[in-house]
Amino acid sequence: MSKIVIVGGVAGGASAATRLRRLNERAEVIVFERGPYVSFANCGLPYHIGGVIKERENLLLATPESLRAEYDIDVRTGQEVIAIDRHKKEITVRVLDTGETYHESYDKLILSPGARPFVPPVPGVDLPGIFQLRTIPDMDAIKAHIDSGKARTAVVVGGGFIGLEMTENLMHRGMDVTVVEMLDQVIPPLDFEMAALVHRHLRLKNVRLALSDGLKSISQGEDGQLAVTLASGKVVYADMVVISVGVRPESDLAKSAGLEIGPRGHILVNEFLQTSDTDIYAIGDVIQVNNPITGQPTAIPLAGPANRQGRLAADHIAGRNVAYQGTQGTCIVKVFDLAVAATGLNAKQLRKQGIAFRSTITQSPDHTTYYPGASHIAIKLLYAPNDGRILGSQIVGAKGVARTINVLSTAIKTGMTVFDLEHLELAYAPPYGSARDAVNIAGFVAANELRGDTDIVQWDEIASLDPEKDGILDARTSLEWSLGHIDGAVHIHVEELRQRLGELSKDKRWVVYCKEGRRAYIAERILKQHGYQAANLTGGWDIYEPAVGQQSNFDEWQGAAHSAAVDLSQPVLVPAEIAGSDQGTAIELDACGLACPGPIMAVYKNMQSMQAGQVLKVTATDPGFARDIPAWCESTGNQLLELKQEGATLTALIRKQGGSTLTAPVRAQVQPTPEAAVSSGNGSKAKTLIVFSGELDRALASFIIANGAAAMGQQVTMFFTFWGLNVLRRPEAVPVKKNLIEKMFGWMLPRGADKLKLSKMHIAGAGTAMMKAIMKAQNVDPLPQLIKSAQENSVRLIACQMSMDIMGIKAEELIDGVEVGGVATYITATDKANATLFV
Ligand code: FAD
Repeated sequence: MSKIVIVGGVAGGASAATRLRRLNERAEVIVFERGPYVSFANCGLPYHIGGVIKERENLLLATPESLRAEYDIDVRTGQEVIAIDRHKKEITVRVLDTGETYHESYDKLILSPGARPFVPPVPGVDLPGIFQLRTIPDMDAIKAHIDSGKARTAVVVGGGFIGLEMTENLMHRGMDVTVVEMLDQVIPPLDFEMAALVHRHLRLKNVRLALSDGLKSISQGEDGQLAVTLASGKVVYADMVVISVGVRPESDLAKSAGLEIGPRGHILVNEFLQTSDTDIYAIGDVIQVNNPITGQPTAIPLAGPANRQGRLAADHIAGRNVAYQGTQGTCIVKVFDLAVAATGLNAKQLRKQGIAFRSTITQSPDHTTYYPGASHIAIKLLYAPNDGRILGSQIVGAKGVARTINVLSTAIKTGMTVFDLEHLELAYAPPYGSARDAVNIAGFVAANELRGDTDIVQWDEIASLDPEKDGILDARTSLEWSLGHIDGAVHIHVEELRQRLGELSKDKRWVVYCKEGRRAYIAERILKQHGYQAANLTGGWDIYEPAVGQQSNFDEWQGAAHSAAVDLSQPVLVPAEIAGSDQGTAIELDACGLACPGPIMAVYKNMQSMQAGQVLKVTATDPGFARDIPAWCESTGNQLLELKQEGATLTALIRKQGGSTLTAPVRAQVQPTPEAAVSSGNGSKAKTLIVFSGELDRALASFIIANGAAAMGQQVTMFFTFWGLNVLRRPEAVPVKKNLIEKMFGWMLPRGADKLKLSKMHIAGAGTAMMKAIMKAQNVDPLPQLIKSAQENSVRLIACQMSMDIMGIKAEELIDGVEVGGVATYITATDKANATLFV
């Protein structure tokens, strides 16, 4: 009968022990565990501290007694293996309670001692109130410190998985938390732009973030408070500090036994997990493994690999020759309401190893948007340029992240290419997915790139574009543009692009962007098929803006006491101090499932019918809403009382301000034609437009601008003069008295909005008809509808009296709701405006 001794009784060790028993009922299996517990859930420790996992016992997956009863395994806790005599095939054990030592022989030895938290050697790290988290006793100590009620503030050193899990759970306990991270980003497996999405979420959750800053020293004042000094010289005062800056393999035992050790201190093993002594196996966090993508050595401390390796070492001891296939680093972590996941290699690692790669970022709903509760996930896909083999992926989102990363991890494991992703058949029903799954879409875009249908520009290439050679084209709506855009970009909404191609130089390459990439791709394809050079900013504005923006909030952060304490999960009873005289419940608006600018437009619409002082509680699932609603409130003068995220749902509380000029919803938006001249006025946000042209495209542009400005809460006055009067004519003949010349003008000029022609490419009516058909297909309102919307949106339409007189147009011939006025009426309006457009 063989005797197998295992050092370490948690993830790897416990897996190996139980598998051994299942394969060999007669073997003697002894597990030595230094700590008081075996087989506990290390991964659940932060959640018990946070009170999410309520019962401590639930973390104890097995006990020495249960392992004895169910598996007949001899588990010896509180006993540390302190030496290995390979020659005699025996170990020396110290009983920690008594200090007594004894020997135990083995036929096979499995080492699964794991990795210990690294503690940087800086002054003060041994002070009371400073913790690391690895074991149940560590957890108990942290929890007791918080339960004592003394700890209200914490510093977490390290923005990796455990650091961020601790941050979330400490905040769950009502604490203010500062995260200090030496790198310029959290979660090292992510590339920077994906981490920036996490930074934004951390800021939204009121975490104080100090990136690119390290721990220099800690000291303690007389009141017991810790003063944490950072490398930058900044000081943070806190009641406790959690240090979580990575782990180091516990390989001292193996090293003293003369086993081969790798350059970073890990035990070296072969494919069967045997060390340089074939009777000794090593598994888990302590070993160096191969990365199956590169074939290069790596070390990835994760529970999944440790458990699989335990099973596999047991298999080999039991005579089954199953080889370990390497660790590709598939991981996922909960960061408040986001799931953040990665697999394979990131761009930083690929660059470091000199491996050629390409990458794209797509954003897709976790399930189809018409079914309630959809939210977007961002997927970065990295792949080989020659054959499209998938090299890595990173995903950030609120829902559907785990299943998506698992598909991509499987795809990497099986050597799939981006072309294979196009063909994957993935389960779909509206509550669960989309007919074009997020994985398919990631595959389509990457395959499009490799086939040359799209050219990709990364977010960090924008700053170094040469304006002589490259232009930037924003293909989003005016509303989206007004809430933020890339400096120097030209704005043409994708729906206008075909008509406005002439405005773009063919001598440049146009880097197109939209919110997430889809509309930019359509624009890119339009441009390319019209002979332009074009490329797509991958991931769009939703990736670019968080990546180029501010990351840390250390200096401007204010503690929890400064954030509004409104429970947004409940109907919001607006307190008198917030609502002024209008105390009562907030008006609720559910904008979940709407993509940008849908939620913002829904907000406009609702605010329109609200009284000053009333509060709107709006829920949305578009991640961009977190960025857009503060910008919108700022630009419309309304007050954002609160913005929170729970799960995939963002909730904003907005109080309508008395002075707000917000009046109406938006219908559609485009930018002015190049002929539009803009002059800046005073501090007001009102707009005036002089419509001189009676051509369809120019009239369309003016009404779309007017509607867009009105939707932003701005007063708009449109002054129609000369040929522009035709836009306002009624379509039917109106019996009025005219002299001959006036009659001739009336016959020659188009009668109303439906009769206008294009300024270019009218081509005996064919071009104009084509334009109307395209607008219909693209869901752009026809001109008469845009005019109606403008009137509903309180846009003032003034017909120029002098031009009417010259052209013989009578007031009765104009559509309802048009004022007839002179230049003075118009000039009075311009006095109140900050911009005048001449179309
Ligand atoms: P461990 O599970 O650490 O077990 C090693 C054991 O060996 C220890 O209990 C130690 O006391 C004992 N030991 C060491 N030396 C001796 C000796 N000489 N004699 C006797 N006993 C000894 N991974 C994930 O994949 N997902 C997660 O969500 C996740 N969350 C985590 C959260 C926390 C707080 C922590 C600490 C880790 C987390 N991990 C997670 C990592 C995961 O727990 C480890 O990768 C995994 O436990 C490694 O297994 P192991 O067997 O190598 O080491």
